[in-house]
Amino acid sequence: SSYTHCSTPPVLFPEGGGQPHDTGYIGSVVVHNVQRRGLEHIHYTKEPVEPGKEVEVVLDWERRWDHMQQHSGQHLLSAILGKEEFGGFQTVSWNLGDTRSHVELATTPTHTPTAAQLAAVESEINRLIREALPVRTVAVSATDASERPDSLPADYVGTHSVVRTVHIADVDANPCCGTHVTNLAHLQAVKLLHTDRIRGNNTRLFFLVGGRVLGALGSAYAVSRDLTAVLSGGQETFVETAGRLVKESKGQAKVIKTLLKEIAGYVAVELAARVEASGHAEHHREDGDMDYLLVLAGLLKEKGVLVGARVVMLSAGEKARGGPMMVLGVDEERVNEVVKGITGELDGVKGGGKGRWQGRVKTWKGLEKAWEVVGKVGSQ
Ligand SMILES: [Zn+2]
Repeated sequence: SSYTHCSTPPVLFPEGGGQPHDTGYIGSVVVHNVQRRGLEHIHYTKEPVEPGKEVEVVLDWERRWDHMQQHSGQHLLSAILGKEEFGGFQTVSWNLGDTRSHVELATTPTHTPTAAQLAAVESEINRLIREALPVRTVAVSATDASERPDSLPADYVGTHSVVRTVHIADVDANPCCGTHVTNLAHLQAVKLLHTDRIRGNNTRLFFLVGGRVLGALGSAYAVSRDLTAVLSGGQETFVETAGRLVKESKGQAKVIKTLLKEIAGYVAVELAARVEASGHAEHHREDGDMDYLLVLAGLLKEKGVLVGARVVMLSAGEKARGGPMMVLGVDEERVNEVVKGITGELDGVKGGGKGRWQGRVKTWKGLEKAWEVVGKVGSQ
């Protein structure tokens, strides 16, 4: 259950304006969510906080700073994208994601940002960051505001309500309730990632700001280092090498299939001789699979050796990992007797079918005991 607390003004930012809520502590109690309701701020905690008691509220600053960077970066990105000389793309919404964020742009098939336009936007944003332009928030009473902006929630009314406008020098001014940096230099850098066409004609443009640029570069570099060792070649050869390996592996899988079929031919001759001589036969192949067993079963049927009370058990897979299994025979009672017997010897037997019992086993520990069962039933 969660408890709610109200305080004004809040230390912890409630979700709003596209920015996720802060997290932190009230005294020693964890605050895992903060929401705005009217002019009140609801703090969600797992434990109660004593009413009327003076407390210290602690903010998870790392999370807040990241949100401030992404959010302020979005203001700057949307401002530049909206300028005519950079294509005049209007931002209709944005999302601050866990790892990357995006703006949704109003675009049409004939008016979509080109790679060159996006490169120019990225360059301009980073130029403005180097200029270290100030970011100011101006708040006026919402009751005095000549015009309430459309973005102001309908329930946000009262004598203490304010309309806040975020100014990036003379580059941009936007009404917003979120938290922002006080200087563009705090953004460090903005990296545009990729675009996605979505519902209707709109385009999503993904981006990273500040600490996330460094984080993404760090993890991409670590992956690149690991892959360089695995693929024995630098990152400029990754795509070519991986493409070649996938192609080779597909080719090899085909060869293996053909070879297993050929092997099945020889094994079937041997099994047919054994089942004719003793009434039963058993065969296991560690690197085989269900396809291999099916080919074997088909060949034994073709040879016409599965008659009378004869039974054959076929299986495949590594000892520790188990695998597919078949029990063949035309005498239903015998087949059932074998299945019942080996179920007691093997771990996690599952399957079914008449005349040709098909199933799986969890491990092949106990395979020899299972073969003893087949021999006993088959030689009766
Ligand atoms: Zn904002």
